[in-house]
Amino acid sequence: MKDFRCFIDGEWTDALSKETFESFDPFTGKVWANIPKCDGRDVDRAVSAARRAFDTGDWSKLNATQRGHLLRRLGDLIARDADHLAATEVQDNGKLYAEMRGQVGYMPQWFYYFAGMADKVEGAVQPIDKPDMFTYTRHEPVGVVAAITPWNSPLLLLTWKLAPALAAGCTMVIKPSEFTSASTLELMRLVEEAGFPKGVVNVITGFGQDVGEAISTHNGIDKIAFTGGEVSGRRIAQQATGNFKRMTLELGGKSAQLVFPDANLDNAVKGVVSGIFAATGQTCIAGSRLLVHRSIHDAFLEKFLELAKTARMGDPMEMTTQVGPVTTQPQFKRVLSMIDMAKAEGAEVAMGGRRADRPECGDGWFIEPTVFVGVRNDMRIAQEEVFGPVLSVIPFNEDEEAYQMANDTPYGLAAGVWTSDMARAFTAAKRLRAGTVWTNTYRAVSYMMPFGGFKNSGVGRESGQDAIYDFLETKSVWLAF
Ligand code: NAD
Repeated sequence: MKDFRCFIDGEWTDALSKETFESFDPFTGKVWANIPKCDGRDVDRAVSAARRAFDTGDWSKLNATQRGHLLRRLGDLIARDADHLAATEVQDNGKLYAEMRGQVGYMPQWFYYFAGMADKVEGAVQPIDKPDMFTYTRHEPVGVVAAITPWNSPLLLLTWKLAPALAAGCTMVIKPSEFTSASTLELMRLVEEAGFPKGVVNVITGFGQDVGEAISTHNGIDKIAFTGGEVSGRRIAQQATGNFKRMTLELGGKSAQLVFPDANLDNAVKGVVSGIFAATGQTCIAGSRLLVHRSIHDAFLEKFLELAKTARMGDPMEMTTQVGPVTTQPQFKRVLSMIDMAKAEGAEVAMGGRRADRPECGDGWFIEPTVFVGVRNDMRIAQEEVFGPVLSVIPFNEDEEAYQMANDTPYGLAAGVWTSDMARAFTAAKRLRAGTVWTNTYRAVSYMMPFGGFKNSGVGRESGQDAIYDFLETKSVWLAF
């Protein structure tokens, strides 16, 4: 059993309540760590520390180039300790070690990229229309930023916020998901070792309803960078109006994969399988609706099931495992209930559709990779985010029908297009109302490419050059002479 502590003002500390809560290993279903149960008083402590660091601390005296050096050092330390960070996340969240090692190994790139941008944020002098005036703009850090993160990719989704916020000169209060706090706290050891001044990065742990709400209503916080579900995002947006906090919201999805008759079917099958079953379907970008042209529906499905049925389930630390457990017990129950709902709606099970009862899955929270056919796009299973290994297959006849169905959900996070016709690829990229459109590939992300959602999938973008401006205010300066 491991006991974790929070990180506030450069100190490792218990919650003021002295209470803790348990964190579970999804592979064994057993408790492996105790996490401090913070409350509003701890939020006050963390916000005060972040405010002091921002206003008068050593951090406020660093120039942008010096901030960039610290970010680069942190990137180097993450690269050095990638194995340990990945293993911590696997234990707490059940993701595959093989995937996590790659993901954590790639994380330093965000720190290097935004380190390079820190001292390239330039103001502008305007040819102002008034006589005897000189005007220019400055970009200044927005202030204290709260990062509220989900359980599905705790470190990567924090990195997308931490790197641009620190590059911009902000200070941070981080609240990881109550289900997966461990890896974020382990990362703080590296923040400390990199030499960030005290109070610049703080982590408090606890539940959304108390710590999370204390953050979203706290007037000492200037911006919230949130990734999580639509319901929580909506509540945070409503609560954050007290001081009109700036906000980026990265929310859920119901992304469609469109397979056209001219697609390379073998590649499309691989892309659709990994699009829905990687990370056990627990990604916001999960390609959970397969729209496949009627003329290739049966052939595609046959190849798809053949490949999907070979997926090896089991211990996420094993390099050969392909599908791990569901991360939390409530989510495990929720996915099973959504499977029952789809059956009740009349969708037919082509594969899976139940808890995985395989010896290699032990007592873990495993669900068989599940495929529903005979789905209509207006069924709840095709409209609501499952956040689990469940695919709905829907045939289409015309391209136009495919675009309309793909766009016909409240979400707009991502879409996949499989075609060998480049004109069709460009048309689809234009027609699909989603923040990311992948063609003949799926799930690729990069520090250079903006990521975020249309419609109910969120507000704002992470990654890419513009992301740093979400952590900056623009000031107009006027001088008369
Ligand atoms: P969640 O919304 O339940 O929790 C996310 C975080 O918000 C947690 O830290 C939680 O404690 C906190 N929280 C919950 N209620 C709160 C409140 N009222 N006030 C303040 N904080 C609150 O989400 P989850 O179950 O951890 O994650 C799954 C969801 O995240 C899915 O919907 C998924 O699509 C979404 N997600 C989106 C992206 C993206 O980039 N768009 C990426 C990953 C996950």
